[in-house]
Amino acid sequence: MAAMLEDLRIQRAATSRRAEVDPSRLGFGDHFADHMFSLRYRDGSWGQPEIVPLAPVPLHPGCLALHYGQSVFEGLKAFRGTDGKVRVFRPDRNAERLRESCRRLCIPALPDGVFEAAVEEIVRVDHEWIPTGRGEALYVRPLVFAEDAHLQVRPSSQFRLLIFTSPVTNYYDRAAGAVSLKAQSRFTRAAPGGVGFAKTGGNYAAALFPATESIAEGFDQALWLDGAEHRYVEEVGQMNIFFDFDGRVATPDLRGTILPGVTRDSVLTLLRDRGTAVEERRIGIDEVLERSRDGTLREAFGAGTAAVITPIGRIGFEGKMYDINGGSAGPLGHELYDSLIGIQLGEREDRHGWNRVIVPEKVPAQAAD
Ligand SMILES: *Cc1c(COP(=O)(O)O)cnc(C)c1O
Repeated sequence: MAAMLEDLRIQRAATSRRAEVDPSRLGFGDHFADHMFSLRYRDGSWGQPEIVPLAPVPLHPGCLALHYGQSVFEGLKAFRGTDGKVRVFRPDRNAERLRESCRRLCIPALPDGVFEAAVEEIVRVDHEWIPTGRGEALYVRPLVFAEDAHLQVRPSSQFRLLIFTSPVTNYYDRAAGAVSLKAQSRFTRAAPGGVGFAKTGGNYAAALFPATESIAEGFDQALWLDGAEHRYVEEVGQMNIFFDFDGRVATPDLRGTILPGVTRDSVLTLLRDRGTAVEERRIGIDEVLERSRDGTLREAFGAGTAAVITPIGRIGFEGKMYDINGGSAGPLGHELYDSLIGIQLGEREDRHGWNRVIVPEKVPAQAAD
């Protein structure tokens, strides 16, 4: 057990639901593993950590998170390597981002090390749920939400951290090829000074209507432009975006309106490792469309934990369609996908120490309290 959580109590599920899941039809977020990690914040401090069978949590109808959205979440993955070892990818980065999200939403920070230790413990307990197919993983979903029952808009005094997991396959069907995006000239995701950089529920609720509209028009996702002028590319759905402009790779710089993706950071590092020139800068939608026409935009892709690397084949903007790389996946996206997955599965050298190897707990023959 991680030293951080010496007082962790584990109550195992009497039986596992794992046999009910068809491993050939995992989907994304359709199934949940047997347990959840739970930690409450009361009277000014975080209390007793526990792992219990995953179950509905009772909430007061006045629960502040439900009304005013004081909640934040994270998303990361655990993998079963080709060598059989269990690895979690860069949990320290998620811990750091959760800290930033909490700060912006007036949620008390977790003590140092608790997030990583809690992720490690829940993966250890439910490690048998980690799927083994290429592109599959155990998605880990940490969530912190306000629990006070009150109707005034104010920071809660009570919170709950839950961490549970879901065996997943690729978010987008890789066989389906590149995705098409609708560049939004009407709706925006985030504004300067807002909460765009935080993984907080309200950002996703606000994106539902524009995303639904984009999908109804035949696109896969919305491409978000900046909130002030609708001129600069920000991100796509739940992914950061990259453009290969004739061998120089560009991604929008972080300026508070963009979610600082762990995959984004990993891709930048992998690109620098292979000697590619990378630029974090403002990228105008005009530049993207112009360069898709003159052929100097070689390819584009989204990057995120859920979708890994997702090729972008088409962008629609103000009634016109623009093809990228003939509408299909490009070689750089493929290469980065293989590099990332290779590192995560322990097949390629982990030069930057991204993987956290977890030694699975021996499951007791008899479920015990
Ligand atoms: C989570 C998320 C990302 C990707 O972040 P990763 O850490 O790479 O998973 C990008 N954009 C948004 C809006 C997100 O919520």
